[in-house]
Amino acid sequence: MRSPPVTDEGRASDPYAGPVDQTRPPGPDTELIRARRAPLTATLAVERYLPARGRPTVGAWCFLDAYGPLDVDGGPGMAVGPHPHTGLQTVTWLLEGTVVHHDSLGSHQPIHPGQLNLMTAGAGIAHAELSPEHPTGRLQGVQLWVALPEASRRVPPAFEHHADLPRPTWGPVQATVLVGALDGARSGATTFSPLVGAELSVAGGDEGVVPLDPDFEHALVALDGAVALDGRPLEPGVARYLAPGRRSLRLAGGPGGRALLLGGEPFTEALVMWWNFVGGSGEEVAQARQDWEEGRFAPVPVAGVARVPAPALPPGRLLPRR
Ligand code: MN
Repeated sequence: MRSPPVTDEGRASDPYAGPVDQTRPPGPDTELIRARRAPLTATLAVERYLPARGRPTVGAWCFLDAYGPLDVDGGPGMAVGPHPHTGLQTVTWLLEGTVVHHDSLGSHQPIHPGQLNLMTAGAGIAHAELSPEHPTGRLQGVQLWVALPEASRRVPPAFEHHADLPRPTWGPVQATVLVGALDGARSGATTFSPLVGAELSVAGGDEGVVPLDPDFEHALVALDGAVALDGRPLEPGVARYLAPGRRSLRLAGGPGGRALLLGGEPFTEALVMWWNFVGGSGEEVAQARQDWEEGRFAPVPVAGVARVPAPALPPGRLLPRR
């Protein structure tokens, strides 16, 4: 198999010609987003796919970290102390293990694989994400953010847990729809822009064809095992970006193969992202930082883990990502 050229920006145009999908317009419509390794805590590193240079968002999805599988026996596992968010939703999805969510609304919610934790930060919320007190086994998951559009950026904060998500199938491919809708199967999670987030599992053997909304752009990321898109294996650590106009995914792979599909209408509003904040302007984000540092977020009722201080603002104005 040919390896596509990769630039020092960690992205490349995808030269793969592949079998022709007659439903797709001609011309290049994919690029690669190569994850970079980033420290989340002193003991937990993540693969960060979004924001990528030149590709800050896919639909309204503005952040994608994947972590694990990590052996958490006797270690701290996930230990992210209280920290704030504004202007976004956090989406927590696990492949293995357990994480306990605590937030400043008083929510206290363990999450297990197959379940969704969705926190709408809106005007402002603080939360902590912790492994159970005596973690065992392994931990693997993804942490995602969805940018809120201007009209909804300052909605009241909210938290939702969804244990019952739609699981449509197309031949040997089964999805779990976390948020939004896929081929008419709609998650009950609250959303503020047209988007989809779904885990796709392949059973091995034949291909399955997953219909897509052609108004959406998408990204497809390998999570586990072997998954192939249009006959070409997904590489670990490399997301496939798919431009609007695509009407389907042809997926195959080995038993246990899993991938994450993110999509949405391209997000065209100005978006200032810095640390844990999304705002419409640098001033809005700087104000959120000051509010956190000066104690104007409600406290997170959790013991034994330190609050995360905001880093210093960079010199100059914070500018929108595009
Ligand atoms: Mn967070």
